[in-house]
Amino acid sequence: MSSRSTKFKVIVVGGGPIGLTAAHALHLAGIDFVVLERRLEIFEDRGASLIVHPHTLRVLHQFGILDDLLPRGVELDHHLSFTADGHVFAEGNRYGLIREYHGHGPVAFHRAELLESMYNGLPEGAKEKILTDKKLTDLTTTHDGVTATCADGSVFHGSVIIGADGVYSKTRQIMRDLALKENATRSWDPVHPYTATYQLLFGSFPSPSPAGQGYDIQSKGKAIMYFSGTDRGWFFLYKRLPRPTSERRIYTQKDVDAVAEEFAEFPLTQTVKVKDVWPRMLGAGLTNLDEGIVKHWSFGRIVLVGDACHKMTTHLGLGFNHGIQDIVVLCNSLRKAVRAASGSQGPRAKVLTEIFENYQAVRMSSVCSLEGDVAKSGLETRMHAWHNPCYYLLSRYLSVPHTIEVLFMKYVMAPEFRKGQVLDYVTGEERMKGKISWVYPVSPTTVKTDYS
Ligand SMILES: Cc1cc2nc3c(=O)[nH]c(=O)nc-3n(C[C@H](O)[C@H](O)[C@H](O)COP(=O)(O)OP(=O)(O)OC[C@H]3O[C@@H](n4cnc5c(N)ncnc54)[C@H](O)[C@@H]3O)c2cc1C
Repeated sequence: MSSRSTKFKVIVVGGGPIGLTAAHALHLAGIDFVVLERRLEIFEDRGASLIVHPHTLRVLHQFGILDDLLPRGVELDHHLSFTADGHVFAEGNRYGLIREYHGHGPVAFHRAELLESMYNGLPEGAKEKILTDKKLTDLTTTHDGVTATCADGSVFHGSVIIGADGVYSKTRQIMRDLALKENATRSWDPVHPYTATYQLLFGSFPSPSPAGQGYDIQSKGKAIMYFSGTDRGWFFLYKRLPRPTSERRIYTQKDVDAVAEEFAEFPLTQTVKVKDVWPRMLGAGLTNLDEGIVKHWSFGRIVLVGDACHKMTTHLGLGFNHGIQDIVVLCNSLRKAVRAASGSQGPRAKVLTEIFENYQAVRMSSVCSLEGDVAKSGLETRMHAWHNPCYYLLSRYLSVPHTIEVLFMKYVMAPEFRKGQVLDYVTGEERMKGKISWVYPVSPTTVKTDYS
């Protein structure tokens, strides 16, 4: 960690998985920060899981938390696909191939436990900078700084704002207002820039099957993903909406129960149905499955990361993984600029604007896999829910042969995973070693990331 001291300070809005990632990365970069989280607790448990892929495990290792984290998750090692009437039509080895190519299979974590490990893995001095019950309500920016105001009246001054406040980002909304106030005729993203075509009921329950199994269950307009951990299982019940919508929808318990009822007879495994686990739920939530990429990721001293600037369906389990990549790319550049800045105030406004614009350009380019992964996640969701006859044919027949799966994992997914970036200012051991090399290796000496 750098001991260089400037007055440069980052205000991170949102203490979700990507806000906590920012806390780790900024702490390691020696950049002062504060995280403002609106909830009263960091580890809210709504029953969700997070699948973490090997390129992300590398970054978590750089944070020094991998060894604490791995025993809390379960590595996926077997996948079955079947129809809603129980017909098994594919038995895949996709997780084994990921392990073979990248050194570790995907790991399923209980989301609340992952957040707990991320938070507990921070040094005490960094933990003190994560403040709860701080709901951002307003932002003002000047030529040399930013001010964030929270619902309780507290005010925070800093140099830049990182908006890690999720799909309905208040930071994004205020940034939009500021941009349009400056020039009412400029084109900007709509208030809610994403569109949902599917609805998702997710939840967890005591696991009825061996740990490490993944299942997908397909039918017309409805599909399920199910993963089993050591103690609990997690399901994801997908239902096509009557029409795509960009409206924010908050669902009630009655809505949750109604969707669960519709799926009651659907199988989760060859012997267990949704109705068997529903009375034993440990937590559940219903949400629209937004998709899209925001066009404007920054304005002046404000920049967005994670779900605030891109959102994909959950079928490939990549949203969190991409938020981590945002922070890595952003902090690699930010740290260099802070170190290079001559004055104690940190980089000038113009430099920050360039860094933020370059960050978006890199994340949207073929250097990263973001755009392709948003498309592939949406494709997988539509295939599983037999969105139209083409998706049905693709899912039930064309993609089923083992050779196709191997070719897909080797020539489509592996080249994307291997692009995973790491913090170029944290040196150490490369823990994930498979048959396919990483484009950006973790090095015992500092690695230069050069996008030019
Ligand atoms: C059911 C489900 C399963 C998923 N499974 C996977 C998976 O397996 N793998 C994967 O990679 N991704 C998965 N995802 C996606 C993943 O959860 C998200 O991509 C990830 O959580 C994004 O993190 P984030 O920190 O950007 O946003 P969020 O997780 O939404 O966190 C935003 C934080 O900001 C806070 N906040 C919001 N507004 C304010 C405000 N005004 N002031 C202060 N704080 C505020 C919120 O309270 C929250 O803590 C899944 C998503 C869902 C819904």
